Amino acid sequence: MTTDEQSIARDLSERVATLVEENDLSDPTGFLGARFDAGLAWVHFPPGRGGLGLPQSFQAQVDAELAAAGAPGPAKGRNGIGLGMAAPTIAAFGTEEQQQKYLRPIFTSEHIYCQLFSEPGAGSDLAAVATRAVREGDGWRVNGQKVWTSGAQNAQIAILVARTDPSVPKHAGLTYFLCDMSDPGIDVRPLRQITGEAEFNEVFLTDVHIPDSDRLGDEGQGWRVATATLNNERVAIGGSAAARESGMIGPVAQAWRQHPELRDPAMHDELLRLWVEAEVARLTGERLRQQLEAGQPGPEGSGLKLAFARLAQTISGFDIELHGEAGLRYDDWTMRRPDKVDFTGREPGYRYLRAKGNSIEGGTSEILRNVIAERVLGLPPEHRIDKDIAWKDLPR
Ligand SMILES: Cc1cc2nc3c(=O)[nH]c(=O)nc-3n(C[C@H](O)[C@H](O)[C@H](O)COP(=O)(O)OP(=O)(O)OC[C@H]3O[C@@H](n4cnc5c(N)ncnc54)[C@H](O)[C@@H]3O)c2cc1C
Repeated sequence: MTTDEQSIARDLSERVATLVEENDLSDPTGFLGARFDAGLAWVHFPPGRGGLGLPQSFQAQVDAELAAAGAPGPAKGRNGIGLGMAAPTIAAFGTEEQQQKYLRPIFTSEHIYCQLFSEPGAGSDLAAVATRAVREGDGWRVNGQKVWTSGAQNAQIAILVARTDPSVPKHAGLTYFLCDMSDPGIDVRPLRQITGEAEFNEVFLTDVHIPDSDRLGDEGQGWRVATATLNNERVAIGGSAAARESGMIGPVAQAWRQHPELRDPAMHDELLRLWVEAEVARLTGERLRQQLEAGQPGPEGSGLKLAFARLAQTISGFDIELHGEAGLRYDDWTMRRPDKVDFTGREPGYRYLRAKGNSIEGGTSEILRNVIAERVLGLPPEHRIDKDIAWKDLPR
């Protein structure tokens, strides 16, 4: 550490100590609001918007000192979309007013977010979205259908991509909005998944009104803004800061230690291989986070998300084998509406089934391989016949 860095670190420790001393740790919302106001929410954000304008690498120190003091942290499980995806996008593309209005309630999780991107005809090919936003007075009237919207039943605000100009090629006619989920034109209907639960939904939008002040970025710039969200999503899913054995490998390693009767030599070799791979993935995520410093993540995060999905599925398969018949026991088909995914607190059967979605959500593994091939390795792009044709003229 340079002397400058040492002095920043000392100053941060003092700010953390003052925050902890002056605020009630048993009131998470109040404490997180005070933490935002003190610039300790996202230290790399500007002053007044939850930060201090410092390099992002100092965040780890703040997080560790607050955790050691027993302070409540942001609700990453319940509000992953708000904290991991909407906040960095608003910080990058939002006006001064939008940042003032939206960042603080995301950090305190008074505003839970959902992501209205995918549609029945636009998943991997997100730029094909058909939900229409039409100018009306000082705002927009939105009509369409979204699908696979995680947590829409709990959300106050959605990040939404809609088509504002059908007469230009698909990527050019999109605009990005922040949408109030309490609008009477929004209808949220649960969709059940392979675990029997309904984490996600279909969302129908009928004459939903969005004021123009809730447009994020310029009209027609929606693809660029959405790409920033997706890059953040891939880092959030695949590369969030984690302690050793805190992920999917944790319960497997624990079962191995606690149940010698389950062990055999072949499984021992396999477990060691998976343990090492999980640790490599974790440390690679750590390195990527340090490289990002203050910038927005680029396509490199796709590699992390790809590795995370493959590992989660392999480890959860091993978990089932390790537990033998007991591992197959998953018989709770209650249609729960969980507000977060709890891999480590549930049984092996649940982990195995839920991990199937990891290679689909946030971009399928095939799409991530395309992103890595084209945008990281510089290989020739896929042939795209629709890129110069107006969206309205594309066959659908
Ligand atoms: C658990 C879960 C939560 C989700 N939450 C949300 C959410 O909150 N908000 C939201 O907007 N969406 C959400 N999604 C949707 C997710 O982003 C989409 O399912 C995903 O992008 C794939 O789109 P699709 O389902 O339309 O499949 P398709 O795009 O139709 O793909 C079908 C198959 O074709 C393959 N494929 C498609 N194009 C190519 C290509 N060019 N090259 C090679 N292979 C290709 C895909 O890899 C896939 O195997 C969620 C999905 C899951 C599973």
